Amino acid sequence: MKEKKENAISIEDLAIFCKKKGFVYPSGEIYGGLAGFWDFGPLGVELSNNLKKEWWKFNVYQREDLVGIDGSIITSPKVWEASGHVENFVDVAVVCKKCGYKSKIDKHEIGITSCEKCGGEYEVKGEFNPMFITEVGPIKGDSIKAYLRPETAQLIFANFKYVQDNARMKLPFGIAQIGKAFRNEVSPREFLFRTREFEQMEIEYFIEPKQKCPYLKEIGTKEIFILDKKMQDSNEGSKKIKIIDALKKKIIKKDWHAYWISKYFEWFDLMGADLNKFRIRQHLSKEKSHYSEDTWDIEYNFPMGYRELMGFADRGDFDLKQHQEYSKKNMELSLDDGKKILPHVVCEPSLGVGRALLVFLLDAYHYDEKRKNVVLKLSPKLSPIKTAIFPIVKKPEFEIIAQKIFDDLKKEWNVVYDKSGSIGRRYARNDEIGTPYCITIDGDSLENKDITIRDRDTTKQIRVKVSELKNVLRELINSEIEFEKAGELVK
Ligand code: ATP
Repeated sequence: MKEKKENAISIEDLAIFCKKKGFVYPSGEIYGGLAGFWDFGPLGVELSNNLKKEWWKFNVYQREDLVGIDGSIITSPKVWEASGHVENFVDVAVVCKKCGYKSKIDKHEIGITSCEKCGGEYEVKGEFNPMFITEVGPIKGDSIKAYLRPETAQLIFANFKYVQDNARMKLPFGIAQIGKAFRNEVSPREFLFRTREFEQMEIEYFIEPKQKCPYLKEIGTKEIFILDKKMQDSNEGSKKIKIIDALKKKIIKKDWHAYWISKYFEWFDLMGADLNKFRIRQHLSKEKSHYSEDTWDIEYNFPMGYRELMGFADRGDFDLKQHQEYSKKNMELSLDDGKKILPHVVCEPSLGVGRALLVFLLDAYHYDEKRKNVVLKLSPKLSPIKTAIFPIVKKPEFEIIAQKIFDDLKKEWNVVYDKSGSIGRRYARNDEIGTPYCITIDGDSLENKDITIRDRDTTKQIRVKVSELKNVLRELINSEIEFEKAGELVK
């Protein structure tokens, strides 16, 4: 891989970097791999777990109106009949007549869309259902045809009544789920962007029909890039506007959309993403599902251009109605006045873990000219390793203190103890994988019972008493204190 001299990295080079450092490997690569499948290495599994944990904390623990579930990957095939996936989940496989590029398009795009690579004409290769089929039951004749789930959402709907009852939820409330989904994509590509096995983090937020969003005060005043239908039709390009103003001007029609979009901007911001690379795009009428009045995506400016990072679909009462009809189980809820209603989901935020990981990795990747190495500026909340502990030299008096600190910190975080190589080399190794803080035990530590903490992004150092170290680290990782105020700055 060519060393990048600037901060932008291509998606291919990011995949090479991730493999080299142990974030993500092509799955089964020793046998040539399998397109659309990836394995997470020691750093990747930590990063992905941290991402999911932070999403869960923000959306489930920090809210009283949301609870979680974890549905099964294979379920009754009737779920997929009711949801419409068996009949209507259709992609169209196309191949470019000019450059041979394989892709999938939606039905409405047949004859309209041209090759995204060279602009050539597409030849339609047929329609297909991207659900993976499997058999449940090992005895031939006894087994039934089932599917690997193509989205996590449906098990939220299928379990809706149980969850509402068990968790004693009152409208409006949401159910969240993180889990694997599978789609037999025509042409998986662009690293984690389009894969055949991926994870989704989804929320179904149920309201009374026409219920207003009571949380509009929480929508911040930050401006974001918006690309609505009109701007797309007139090729105007996106405009920067406050979400609340977009709602007031009816660019965003539904208050729940404005609210949830703002919550996701807040979360991505907290996690350290560069919001200037984000925009929201309204679906054109032909892109929307028949039951949707309005759908928005958050798009991110990936190295290959603006692409969907996540969607905010309006599903109305479609799914509960379908499950009610197919299962013959009542999905209605009784309101306080005794009236029975079928709740609506006007906004379903659905985010892929892989696409979110790409965003955080792309935004974090920096080549530092002075240091002559990569510095991965991940938010400490997401960093796979929270701190690396170094005795300045390999001598028992330093190693004993370092080992003791390591033993204590590893009870709470994923930390490493590193005593090999020069201090500079040890810093560089950790900068490259995004470790936010390195702790050094030096000569002064023996006398003063303190250590230095070095900040990855600025290389500034502070001295902190060993007895206060854990608290200081906790505050730093949670962004509760500025680095320079967390100890005595080393001049
Ligand atoms: P696309 O148009 O890119 O195929 P979609 O609109 O079909 O995506 P949804 O069904 O809305 O996607 O799924 C919600 C989210 O799940 C997407 O925004 C994306 O983050 C993630 N996702 C969907 N398909 C894939 C995939 N094949 N690989 C990785 N992530 C995916």
